[in-house]
Amino acid sequence: MEEALAVFQSIASELLADEKVNSVVDYIPADQLFDKLDLSLIDQPIDDETHLRKLKELVMATPRTATNAFFNQLYGGRNEKAVLGELLAVLLNNSMYTYKAAGAQVGVEKIVLRKVCEIIGWNENADGTFATGGSMTNFMSMLMARDAFNSKIRFEGVQQKMTVYTSIESHYSIPKNASFAGIGRNNVRYIPVNKVGEMIPADLDTAIAKDIADGFHPVMVNATAGTTVLGAFDNVEAINEVCKKYNVWMHVDGAYCGSVIFSEKYKHHLKGLENVDSFSFNAHKMIGTPLTCSLIVVKDKKNLRNSFANEAEYLFQSDEDDFNPGKTSLQCGRRNDALKFWTLWKSVGTKGLEKIVDHQFDLADTARDYVRNHPDYKLYSFEDSISVCFNYKNISAKDICAKLYEHAELMVGYGAFQEDEFIRFVTINAQNSNEDILLFFKKLEGFVAEHFNELKIEKLGIN
Ligand SMILES: *Cc1c(COP(=O)(O)O)cnc(C)c1O
Repeated sequence: MEEALAVFQSIASELLADEKVNSVVDYIPADQLFDKLDLSLIDQPIDDETHLRKLKELVMATPRTATNAFFNQLYGGRNEKAVLGELLAVLLNNSMYTYKAAGAQVGVEKIVLRKVCEIIGWNENADGTFATGGSMTNFMSMLMARDAFNSKIRFEGVQQKMTVYTSIESHYSIPKNASFAGIGRNNVRYIPVNKVGEMIPADLDTAIAKDIADGFHPVMVNATAGTTVLGAFDNVEAINEVCKKYNVWMHVDGAYCGSVIFSEKYKHHLKGLENVDSFSFNAHKMIGTPLTCSLIVVKDKKNLRNSFANEAEYLFQSDEDDFNPGKTSLQCGRRNDALKFWTLWKSVGTKGLEKIVDHQFDLADTARDYVRNHPDYKLYSFEDSISVCFNYKNISAKDICAKLYEHAELMVGYGAFQEDEFIRFVTINAQNSNEDILLFFKKLEGFVAEHFNELKIEKLGIN
């Protein structure tokens, strides 16, 4: 093992050094991948030296998500404390189903979940778990909502016509999960949003009332804290009132921006969160831990057990249930995703998590100010969002994002809201400084100046 760790160290050093000069790797078209890189698997072993060389080639050709040129998704950067925790989790290799197998690590997971519940304002009756991502924590919430509506479904299968509600701007995992849960994609109601991308509570009320009149059973409303494109926050309080009126489970999908709970300044976006039934967020997004670190917490922990516990004598052989987290999990074997979050949290404190969150909003302010103050740009997004959406010189967002990638300049994506399509610049990497944000715009403008004739111009502003 010592040798493997030395190899790791050598590859890591080379990668870190190269990232400083090459923030984006050379583009390899997908259809040339297997020609450009030797990924082949053969019958015979290879010597360690060749193995190391092949590994380095692979690592050096892999897209870089930790540099100041990566703005493509809702994650980025490399938090060293969290990476340290992740490396230790890999080395320890515990499976998080039982106290017997994971021991002290169960305590790590429990304390993280407990703290999150406390921050929300929930008591000992609340609990949570980790899953493999925000899509899966959303799935868990839907299963709990379904089973809370009718506990027989677990045994007898779905026999009633159920409906779920989410905004038109919400994540695509909601319809996917509705199909997995036996509710059906066609029974997802997409509630319209206002002009800043937030679900309209009155429309939610109307939709639920209509479904009830039509013989459906509404089982869940999903509100989003940080919509995927605009980073908008649905109004938790107003939506919760509708849920209470019809006695429907309310989940808040905070995969993207739910981490605002750690910020005094921004937690008002989730005002009323203590009244919802379940809440999920991805620490691998705003908090910046390595992928994946997804938490779901529920106000009443009995729902976790009701939906996910299964007797398994071969597995759960000792210790009290509260220390056997396998009883509240979607999975059987489960990797230790809590340790990286705990390692970081232990180091920087809750105040440090707050700083990480606040800094991203500061970076977004810098980006929005820049866009507003430069007439060649058009801004599409709003205050208090870390998704800064804009177009530059009427260039097609899709086209410029593709060309920036192919020329290995910047990794940034595009999105759409209503009639507009735009570049979605996400200031989620808390290791970036304001200078890095300004550097992004410099690079973009330099690239456009050099390649203007190759870029597609759109007729914007017709709508
Ligand atoms: C990212 C995201 C998800 C999905 O999370 P994964 O971890 O990628 O599965 C769900 N909802 C929202 C709002 C997201 O931004």
